[in-house]
Amino acid sequence: MADTAVVWFRRDLRVRDQPAFLAAAGAASRSLALFVLDPALLRPSGAARRTFLYRSLRALDEALGGRLLVVHGDPAEVVPAVADAADAASVHIAADFGPYGTGRDEAVEKSLADAGRELVRTGSPYAVAPGRVRKDDGSPFRVFTPFRRAWTEHGWRRPAETDASTVAWLDPAAVDGGPRAVGIPDDDPVDAGLPDAGEDAAHRQWTAFLADAVTTYGDDRNRPDKEGTSRMSVYLKYGAVHPRTLLADLASRRSTSAETYRTELAWREFYADILFQRPDSARANYDRAFDALPLASGREAEERFDAWREGRTGFPIVDAGMRQLREQAWMHNRLRMIVASFLVKDLHLPWWRGARHFMQLLVDGDLASNQHGWQWTAGSGTDPAPYFRIFNPVVQGERFDPDGDYVRRFVPELRGVAGKAVHQPWALPGGAPAGYPEPIVDHRVERQEALARYERVKAQR
Ligand code: FAD
Repeated sequence: MADTAVVWFRRDLRVRDQPAFLAAAGAASRSLALFVLDPALLRPSGAARRTFLYRSLRALDEALGGRLLVVHGDPAEVVPAVADAADAASVHIAADFGPYGTGRDEAVEKSLADAGRELVRTGSPYAVAPGRVRKDDGSPFRVFTPFRRAWTEHGWRRPAETDASTVAWLDPAAVDGGPRAVGIPDDDPVDAGLPDAGEDAAHRQWTAFLADAVTTYGDDRNRPDKEGTSRMSVYLKYGAVHPRTLLADLASRRSTSAETYRTELAWREFYADILFQRPDSARANYDRAFDALPLASGREAEERFDAWREGRTGFPIVDAGMRQLREQAWMHNRLRMIVASFLVKDLHLPWWRGARHFMQLLVDGDLASNQHGWQWTAGSGTDPAPYFRIFNPVVQGERFDPDGDYVRRFVPELRGVAGKAVHQPWALPGGAPAGYPEPIVDHRVERQEALARYERVKAQR
């Protein structure tokens, strides 16, 4: 057995259910815990995600008894340098399947190999690693429902029984040389209220959901006026908890709601699988026929984009969603679909501009779920909502926020309007309350316009 290994944390900031710990403990008598602040990932993250990351790192460091080494730089340079300084024979990770992570890990693996060291991948941030679930003929799935069926049949391991004491952690101060320890940065100033970070917070949130809302999840998950969803996305994003742990806790529950929750986790796995198959789909239309969709541009289009971003479109449900995003760095799934549909089909703007804005503000911003959530709504993705199914923002508001409580919570100008009338303030006897904008577009007109633009896509098929 080698003397030392490195455990390199990335999207797995926890000590429980950590198969990589078992691999490291089996390979060396002690391990160095490492996190790399990678400028290529930090820069596009947005203040909410950076701050949440730093807080998650503080919680992890505490769980490891203050033994987390944090360095700054390009992982292809600093990880081999840390392994060299610690004289580690192996570096242990959970595999990454995103477009950037795959290339980064290959580069690190090569540098390590040149020095006679090994990069060992154990597990991934998913219950089933991307690329594993295949059709009978070996090709990847492009449609969700058969993917989910095959994913369920494939199954997953039980959570690994680990905690901080599974590994004997080396004190970073005992390592001579190598990249300088920089410590965990201070929080970035962030306007939004963020959830508590760290593994314990993740488990508290999950336990509370299991004790209560899970029973009504199937009915309430589409209701933004209720606290009907689990709010686990940010913890899954940073690996404060592994989906395997959630699935194991759900295994004994036979309810429709538990089944629905498993299906939502399967969407996360499906999109990761799709992005792994088609890394180009992070930036380009998955369905290239949509390259022909005529898009709005010019000054009016920019003004409309600003109105959308700032939550002043004059459509209350859209504005409430966009303001929730600013206030909480999170948005309810139904709202993500409504505001995305509005940007793409009422304003005729490209989905990737909305996706980029989401990635700047969302605390749970995840490339696979975000880009493919946008493409699903835009109609250009895998298994999409058909393009001609265009959300009417008033109907969506009345259906999913029937008493208007969600809108009033986030749009103070409309707090004096009772009931569902809040979804059409322009139709109030005295018109919209002072300070609330008129609708920036006529939905009926833009719906026809969207359908006309879609004809160009159909012509490509
Ligand atoms: P719950 O309803 O409690 O769901 C449980 C878990 O299932 C979630 O935490 C998430 O991991 C997964 N899940 C649920 N719905 C979806 C879905 N449609 N696609 C993929 N996974 C899902 N999710 C992100 O994690 N990060 C994103 O950046 C992101 N961007 C999105 C953008 C758009 C345009 C759309 C339509 C959806 C996006 N989603 C994203 C999916 C979904 O909106 C969020 O996962 C969900 O709102 C998170 O809240 P929750 O944890 O309370 O969800």
